[in-house]
Amino acid sequence: MPQADLIIHNARILTMDEERPRAQALAVAGNLLLAIGSDSEILALAGEGTRRIDAGGGTVLPGLNEAHMHIFGGSVSLTQLSLFGVKGFEALKQAVTAYAAANPDLRLLVGLSADYTILSETEKVTRHHLDAILPDRPFMMLAPDRHTAWANTAALKAAGILEGRDVGVGNEIVMGEDGLATGELKETNAIDPVAEMGVTAGRDHLGIGTGGDPDHVTPEERASDLALIRRGLAYCAELGLTSVQAMDGNLYQLEILDEIEREHGLPVRVRMPFHMKNFMDLDMIEAKAAGWRRRFDSDRLRCDFVKVFVDGVTESGTAVMVDDYADEPGWKGDPLFTREHFAKVAVETDRLGLQVAVHAIGDGAVRIVLDGYEAARKANGPRDSRHRIEHVEVVHPDDVGRFAELGAVASMQPTHPPGSAGLPLEPYLTRIGEARWPLAFAWRSLKDAGARIVFATDWPVSPLSPLSCIQDAMTRQPWKEGMPDQRLSLAETLAAYTSEGAYVEFMEDRKGRLKPGYLADIVVLSGDIEATPAAELATLRPVATICDGRITHQA
Ligand SMILES: [Zn+2]
Repeated sequence: MPQADLIIHNARILTMDEERPRAQALAVAGNLLLAIGSDSEILALAGEGTRRIDAGGGTVLPGLNEAHMHIFGGSVSLTQLSLFGVKGFEALKQAVTAYAAANPDLRLLVGLSADYTILSETEKVTRHHLDAILPDRPFMMLAPDRHTAWANTAALKAAGILEGRDVGVGNEIVMGEDGLATGELKETNAIDPVAEMGVTAGRDHLGIGTGGDPDHVTPEERASDLALIRRGLAYCAELGLTSVQAMDGNLYQLEILDEIEREHGLPVRVRMPFHMKNFMDLDMIEAKAAGWRRRFDSDRLRCDFVKVFVDGVTESGTAVMVDDYADEPGWKGDPLFTREHFAKVAVETDRLGLQVAVHAIGDGAVRIVLDGYEAARKANGPRDSRHRIEHVEVVHPDDVGRFAELGAVASMQPTHPPGSAGLPLEPYLTRIGEARWPLAFAWRSLKDAGARIVFATDWPVSPLSPLSCIQDAMTRQPWKEGMPDQRLSLAETLAAYTSEGAYVEFMEDRKGRLKPGYLADIVVLSGDIEATPAAELATLRPVATICDGRITHQA
């Protein structure tokens, strides 16, 4: 047996490998796991140059896999103001004023994670509230889901949208009775004119917004974007992540990531999609997505799936429901793709052997997507497609079993249910109505019906920490007595962050488990995760992260 380059010993290893679920120590040679076993077996593989990490009895897991995130936007968010947990006008004023004073040169000040009820349960935010905080500098704050934003008058004026603008179906610059914008902006096309005044001039948002690339980028701007993304990747490694699956994509980001890989080596494996928008021709899938798959095809940087948005979010009424919104009779939401249009996209993407990942929040959107996957199966024959549905916040009872039938994977965010992670219950619960509650964020019901589940935070929508997210998953409370408990066990939750994450990437034979011959992606935690109460899981820290055999973080 070759000599080990790195040994981790004195550990509680949870391998996620059914054949050998637990071990004390492991050895790495090059970028692969060499052996796994007891301390004495593994330490015998040490030679002169072998590095050793004493885990001190802490848990060791396969490197964590964030199955749904936005690397460019997330990286930019590290420079923005977090309004997470801020409540009431005075608290908002204090936070924004301090951030503005600390950043005198920023052309646009941006606040993130502003609750829909940041002022109170009843008072809607308008530009006038924000003007009272910052009258003369452009300021915008985004809801936690980033599908709604509120801008002050200076921002609306500078962006040229104070008097409104047609921003297309499903997007809205909300207008007041005075004929001017109220400050509320719904969805990408409405938010972008303001966002374009930010540090990246909106370049971080193009992957979601249009799937296209920036027109004019100076070498300085590109270098600044690259530095931001490098910092974001390092942050991922600090949190114990070894794989991230980005959910927006464009060539600009892929080329920056490729340059980071060639110059420094990516500290985290990145998977990125081609983003198919509703205005694109079907042949773009073959021309772009299939071409990018050939070009970006390494274990560390891969572009091998197609992302689609079929609806928006529930709070703003852009999520698509089977039946009316509980608090808005006659309104079901407007899909971004009709059933027929989406089915064509699914059939074509599936025909090319690519995976589809679709943002679908309402039960109506989920159904459009499942129908599309069914159409793809009919047209192209059954295959191991592992098509995904992102979020699945509500699912109709008739559709729960269809995930397993169609082999579709549910990609879900334990940080998103109202009442979890400090999020308010309203207006969400009233909007969907009590009849939908039992099958909202229904991880357990879906899994029990045979669906595969992966977990993620949707960073920067929620904070990226996987341990916080695992805590949220393990402490989820029903909204009402007698409702189903949707929690998964700790083992199932960890699988949703490791082995299942690898499965959805078609990489389960090479990563997501700690097994000889697998890629050496490992995280060492500060304590024993099985002995830690669920409500304290977020206090555990990654003390070392190893990606591809390389130590990418060590506390
Ligand atoms: Zn997302």
